[in-house]
Amino acid sequence: MIKGQCLCGAVQYQYHGEIENSILCYCQHCQQAQGAIAGWNSPLDQTKFEFISGQDQLNEYFHTPNKARVFCQHCASPIYSYRTDLPNIIRLRLGTVTEGQIPAPTEEFFTEHKPKFIELR
Ligand SMILES: [Zn+2]
Ligand SMILES: [Zn+2]
Repeated sequence: MIKGQCLCGAVQYQYHGEIENSILCYCQHCQQAQGAIAGWNSPLDQTKFEFISGQDQLNEYFHTPNKARVFCQHCASPIYSYRTDLPNIIRLRLGTVTEGQIPAPTEEFFTEHKPKFIELR
């Protein structure tokens, strides 16, 4: 079981499954959207993902036409993204996870934007 929440705690969720893999994305969209070195996320089965609270606090931003970035409109924490052409898959922002195991990243995308001081073992 995975649990998580946004920074202010209004949005709380649980995932009735395991996180099987995680990736780091260094593309500029992820860096700007997260305000961070990389996006750290994992594709999940939306049918096993459930909001405990705060679903009405979510807002969506479409930077590209087919991809929604979903965030808490109160504290602005990014929660997940989804593509309109990929039903039932969400990409959870793993920094919001508070309970459960997250496997180390197995893939890195857009490493041309990866800072030289980051090294994975
Ligand atoms: Zn929040
Ligand atoms: Zn990215």
